[in-house]
Amino acid sequence: KTEVHVCMTGCRAYGAAAVRDALADAVTRQGLDKEVEIRSTGCHGFCAKAPVVAIEPLGIQYQEVDPEDATEIVDKTIKNQQFIERLAYQDPRTGRFVYYRNQIPFYQKQVRRVLANCGRIDPTQIEHYIAAGGYRAFVKALSKMTPETVIEEVVSAKLRGRGGAGFPTGIKWRFARQSPTTPKYVVCNADEGDPGAFMDRALLEGDPHAVIEGMMIGGYAMGAEYGIIYVREEYPIAVEHLTLAIEQGKQLGLLGENILGTGFNFDLSLKMGAGAFVCGEETALMASIEGKRGMPRPRPPFPAQAGIDQKPTNINNVETLANIPLIIKNGAEWYGELGTDASKGTKIFSLAGKVNNTGLVEVPIGTTIREVVYDIGGGIPKGRQFKAVQMGGPAGGCVPARFLNLPIDYDTIQRIGAIMGSGGLVVLDENNCMVEIARFFLNFTQSESCGKCAPCRLGTTQLLETLTRITLGQGHIEDIDTIKSIGHTMAEASLCGLGQASPKPALSTLRYFEQEYRDHIHEHR
Ligand code: SF4
Repeated sequence: KTEVHVCMTGCRAYGAAAVRDALADAVTRQGLDKEVEIRSTGCHGFCAKAPVVAIEPLGIQYQEVDPEDATEIVDKTIKNQQFIERLAYQDPRTGRFVYYRNQIPFYQKQVRRVLANCGRIDPTQIEHYIAAGGYRAFVKALSKMTPETVIEEVVSAKLRGRGGAGFPTGIKWRFARQSPTTPKYVVCNADEGDPGAFMDRALLEGDPHAVIEGMMIGGYAMGAEYGIIYVREEYPIAVEHLTLAIEQGKQLGLLGENILGTGFNFDLSLKMGAGAFVCGEETALMASIEGKRGMPRPRPPFPAQAGIDQKPTNINNVETLANIPLIIKNGAEWYGELGTDASKGTKIFSLAGKVNNTGLVEVPIGTTIREVVYDIGGGIPKGRQFKAVQMGGPAGGCVPARFLNLPIDYDTIQRIGAIMGSGGLVVLDENNCMVEIARFFLNFTQSESCGKCAPCRLGTTQLLETLTRITLGQGHIEDIDTIKSIGHTMAEASLCGLGQASPKPALSTLRYFEQEYRDHIHEHR
């Protein structure tokens, strides 16, 4: 049977629903309803070319498809296996048209393990997930593994938290398991808020059951009977798909009491966040779940000791959890075939900014920045010069061109003053002003600071004022030292990660582009 996969998540904003409906009409008109399935899927990754349509099992990908193209796609490609040139990817280097998805340069250096189901299955159908091997890891864990061996497998896989900090997930799970208090909670932090980041949204929209399965395995391993997904309300498709997935899991007896007759109980619910960036911080997130204002609190006590309602709580990010079924199903050894010695597996990045192929990219950890920006991203539009890549959102920093050959892994990126973060990569070209970039991110963190502690509340305000003054041509040379001094104080004295990291865009641009600050100041003297 021919399957036509239409991205109905990210591509929806580009009219994918009309494309899907037109394809379905064309198939019906040709009397092919039994032979052809028009399937609504998650993201294919190549967002620059939306709406994207894949025709399987032929392996053909068409891009920037309009509803008017539907009849031709059915007549030519589906019925007669003929290509349609104008809908194919054209390689700008060779001028060649590329019809098969696995020959498009954007996909060639990617290894789509975690994103394997995105763009292939209908995320609203649990049967699709199961047919693709879903929930096998959970059944394996429950029937063949003890909670301790599950944790040891995750430890051996060297999976590190994909939300930003990169803490080893298995070790975190071990702390929660060892905590004697009950009940325990597992929480999925789906409060993705970095400007330019959409990895978690795409996973939740395109493969919600993978995240849920990761939580179920985590619940079994840690001895937790309650799971909560904290998802931002601005992600309506993610909320819709998660709600449906939880209902389907309950109907199939994968959630609830005495699951599969093993005596294991696991209940799962959704909590919608109102979009405050600080609620991605673990202690603020837990306060929000408890119905309080989402503000961070000092640690210790750590969530594994006293989290939601003072009970042990383990919080993992969406992508981290989506890795768990792969590890349990295939084993830590298989998982460790990709990545570096210290960080195994793959990482999803959202590639945005001044790059030809914007979209969702999954590569082995250790892939170089050059490979991501040039081989996958197709380089900088209009032949302009690459200047830097902003990594890790407002808590991250700018990595200049001299580091293009550096492997992207947690420790290497941290050493040069940025962070891998949750995976936002914003490419900047020669026309970007680095002081303006720093000001943009400070403007964001200043308005998102919860105001609880003085170093962050006052520091973000003063930094923003100083940066704004410089960009307006009213800066003084002393401002450079002021930025450094305020930034270092904030990093040392702020209560939570938001305040500690918010000077990073300013400090990293100063570290590598101080001359631009000086030029702004001198130009207007
Ligand atoms: Fe709030 Fe900022 Fe202090 Fe965090 S560092 S508690 S966001 S004021």
